[in-house]
Amino acid sequence: MSEVVRIFDPWKSKICTCKPKYSFNPYTGCSHNCIYCYATYIPRFRELRKKKKVLIRLEKDLKKIDLSLPISMSNSSDPYPPIEKKEKITKKCIELMKDYDAKLLIVTKSDIVIRDAKLLSEINCCVSITITSFNKAKILESNAPPPEKRVEALRKLKDWGVPVVLRLDPILPKINEKEIDHILNLCEFVDHVVTSTLKLRADSFKRVCDHFPELKNEYKKLYFKLGEKIGNSFYLPKNIRLEILRCVEEKCREVGLSCAFCREGIKFEAESCDGQHLLRKY
Ligand code: SF4
Repeated sequence: MSEVVRIFDPWKSKICTCKPKYSFNPYTGCSHNCIYCYATYIPRFRELRKKKKVLIRLEKDLKKIDLSLPISMSNSSDPYPPIEKKEKITKKCIELMKDYDAKLLIVTKSDIVIRDAKLLSEINCCVSITITSFNKAKILESNAPPPEKRVEALRKLKDWGVPVVLRLDPILPKINEKEIDHILNLCEFVDHVVTSTLKLRADSFKRVCDHFPELKNEYKKLYFKLGEKIGNSFYLPKNIRLEILRCVEEKCREVGLSCAFCREGIKFEAESCDGQHLLRKY
């Protein structure tokens, strides 16, 4: 049986600032349909599948990995897709990880995570919820739960004593930039913010242009002429990225939140990008 818990190594990125951690996806593929998704290189990605014998494989891996490192769940899928309500696969995985005292970093766009609030409050974990837009969420992430529900999920988890992170990620120029202040105002209560600018590959460029044809020429120029290629992705020109990221940082400072950047190669003051600093240190 192949392993399901692997060292997190996003495309061997030289600018990833994550401290060592593992990556685990209870499901394969994702049904949220985000137009900017970076994981669509995975075959049949939009077709959500249950992993075969996932609990048996997870337990086998838990017995051999270094449990002082956190496990991030999930990086190339969402651990709370709609079928999780019925299947409870993620919940069973968390219960198993609890038996092993594993540290957990959950990343989701779904309010289904609230169902597990009590369980999450009993383990060493931190939950990150992604919110990119209120006005354009139906275009950007057509099948994901509405952003209002995600704010509510962050709030409820916080009430349960679970450390929470807002992932304001990605920021797409001319699409959701103007919503930065609004999102941060609504999420002032979180423990940390991580943000990043949109990175493009050929397929995500096409999807963004299909939905925002008026931006096609501008994006082409910004990303492929003036921007830079880092690893497999095209980035905005550094001065524009700096401007956008500093704007988020400034607003976070104003409302008293720590702020970090994800795979930008730009320094930030927070202790970690992914919220690892919010895990208990024992
Ligand atoms: S939630 Fe994440 S993995 Fe799923 S489609 Fe959106 S960006 Fe991709």
